[in-house]
Amino acid sequence: MTKSVGPVCNYAAMIVEEKIERGEELIKEGRQLPPTLRALARLMWNYWWSWSEDPSIFRDLDPGMWEECGHNPRQLLRQVSPFRLWQLATDPGYVARVQKLAESFDRYMSGAESGASRRLKKFGWEHPVAYFCAEYGLHDSLPIYSGGLGILAGDHLKSASDLGLPLIAVGLFYRYGYFRQRIRSDGWQEEYYGELRPDLLPFQPVLDETGAAVTIEVAIRGRLVRARVHRVMVGRVQLLLLDSNLEENDPTDRWITGHLYGGDRETRIVQEMLLGIGGVRLLRKLGIEPAVYHLNEGHSAFLTLELARELVAQGMSFAEAAARVRQMCVFTTHTPIAAGNDEFDPSLVERCFGEIYWRELGLTREEFLGLGRVHPEDTSAPFGMTPLAIKMSRAANGVSRKHGEVTRALWRELWPEKRIEEVPIGYVTNGVHAPTWVAPFIRSIYERRVGRRWTEAIRHPKRWARGVERIADEELWEAHLLLKERLIAFIRERLRRAWTERGEAPSRVELVHKLLDPRALTIGFARRVAGYKRWGLLLTDPERLLRLVSDAERPVQFVFAGKAHPQDLEAKLALQRVAQWQADSRVMFRAVFLEDYDQEIARQFVQGVDVWLNVPRPPLEASGTSGQKAAMNGALNLSVLDGWWIEGYDGTNGWAIGDPHVMQASAEDDLRHAEALYRLLETEVVPLYYERDSAGIPRRWAWMMKRAIATLAPRFNSDRMVSEYAEKIYAAARAPVA
Ligand SMILES: *Cc1c(COP(=O)(O)O)cnc(C)c1O
Repeated sequence: MTKSVGPVCNYAAMIVEEKIERGEELIKEGRQLPPTLRALARLMWNYWWSWSEDPSIFRDLDPGMWEECGHNPRQLLRQVSPFRLWQLATDPGYVARVQKLAESFDRYMSGAESGASRRLKKFGWEHPVAYFCAEYGLHDSLPIYSGGLGILAGDHLKSASDLGLPLIAVGLFYRYGYFRQRIRSDGWQEEYYGELRPDLLPFQPVLDETGAAVTIEVAIRGRLVRARVHRVMVGRVQLLLLDSNLEENDPTDRWITGHLYGGDRETRIVQEMLLGIGGVRLLRKLGIEPAVYHLNEGHSAFLTLELARELVAQGMSFAEAAARVRQMCVFTTHTPIAAGNDEFDPSLVERCFGEIYWRELGLTREEFLGLGRVHPEDTSAPFGMTPLAIKMSRAANGVSRKHGEVTRALWRELWPEKRIEEVPIGYVTNGVHAPTWVAPFIRSIYERRVGRRWTEAIRHPKRWARGVERIADEELWEAHLLLKERLIAFIRERLRRAWTERGEAPSRVELVHKLLDPRALTIGFARRVAGYKRWGLLLTDPERLLRLVSDAERPVQFVFAGKAHPQDLEAKLALQRVAQWQADSRVMFRAVFLEDYDQEIARQFVQGVDVWLNVPRPPLEASGTSGQKAAMNGALNLSVLDGWWIEGYDGTNGWAIGDPHVMQASAEDDLRHAEALYRLLETEVVPLYYERDSAGIPRRWAWMMKRAIATLAPRFNSDRMVSEYAEKIYAAARAPVA
């Protein structure tokens, strides 16, 4: 069995692995799994189960306890009662499921079913892709992400694993994760943090050959900071998370990996130093020589300096070293918004790095600071992570066709001699991981109509479309209605808990059972509450909106979720406005705001709504991915033409708000877009949804659902995205010369 983990064996001691096989970890904790369930001890250490063909395997062990454990299988196996364990250990149906899944896992890990393209096979585990990101959204039990960037990184790892692309990922373990959100009864957002415990999560410490825990050191703010490393298995890919919470560190430094995006500028830069510099040192320590370093967003750009420092130490000049580093690094930028492009005050950079660092690079202070500037000689300019990343990478890309264009315009000054079309910034449009985001109920339709290996068919647009044509309107519509019922039950349950917790009167809590109507046209709107996402657009004309919502014959209902950054007061006000509008007695039965948006809420929403609404201010939505998740489940996108939707929309697979030729939207465009949105709802979306045949099926709607699935799923999935990175971006890399 240990051999099945083959490719990653080279990297970190696998001593723990065998203990896992025997369930020793649990034995130590005083638990022993019944022999018929022993395979669960192995499955729980690898997030693969969460996108396998049987993702409910742990939930069904004890659904109540599953909720209590925050969907964490390791904690579940520790806490589930022995009676419940033995009950299932003697339940032939459950035992068979466990056996089947364990076999499937072994096949998966051995790589027998990967179906990777020939181009991918060029990469070997001797020289993998090293993927760096400040946040990862893999599963609800590991909340170390804030939004789209993290979820995208999580999907990237899963697809790399599915495709058999040798990739190793590096990130930070935030002890308190990202903030959690509570909405007061007046609609104001409150924040709090939960603590994540490595000893309860499905993590293993990374150990060396002697069995000792691997640590790395980085000098930050004049002190040596040490970090330990947790290993998270994501199918065949491993994610290594650095954690500075060690007793031997200065108390301040233990907080470096405290919160994701929770601190001030100083916290941010020291986190980025640990990620970039510490990440490279970790790979060295494990003997990993990557063929290419992928900087997923600028947060990890300090890694390029560390690579250069190594080469300078071997005797190269900085210029020679930088040229070599450039051959190894590729950079993806994810937003044109200033706040998303990290910049630091030069004095802060100086204090955190210390003079010794630039001396070791063979640079003066100003030369060093100039690396982070568009115009190096402009000594008043801050140190930007994006200019650093662009200068030190051989390839840079945006995350949709439009975003590629926008990014070229934004950073063209870095190439003063080039015309804008010649600026060497390309694009790879984002995609989402189908097995993670497609509802099991829809998935079973794909298995029946497209084939058992639908996750491979989805990589081939024609084969996929032929399969989707075989889906009957009735089966798709019936499955969708059931999922909508599930969504409404989920929302009522969450609200019941939230309202009880905040002390609402029992009579009011009872009202949750009357909220929302499964027959009504249901529109989902869930995303971070950031200015450019225009949370207020829908409320531009409340009276007109109320007419749609309170229509007795053809009602429209809304489900909302999203967090505002704690320091963004304007966003918190926008959120409060929506929450207050929704709480109005004329609206409350047809609109709901669900607090604490996360991956679980996202999954329920995209799998259950009829329409996915998206109204960003162009050109600021670099890609957007939630609409892609919705489309894979047959929801129809009603979206401003920005980001991915410009490439996805074809006139038959959803609706477009606005004009694709408007490069930069103005304040009048806000009004124009609101008008277009209301008009589309009134004249197209609502009438089409309520147009039924004698069997009660909305034929034309179901046809559009199938168009969305057929045309969008094969293009906006992360297998296509990762293949494109591998073929167009990683492949040009050379393995480092020994
Ligand atoms: C997919 C997802 C996002 C990103 O969605 P956008 O369309 O880019 O706003 C953010 N948060 C969560 C929890 C998600 O699942």
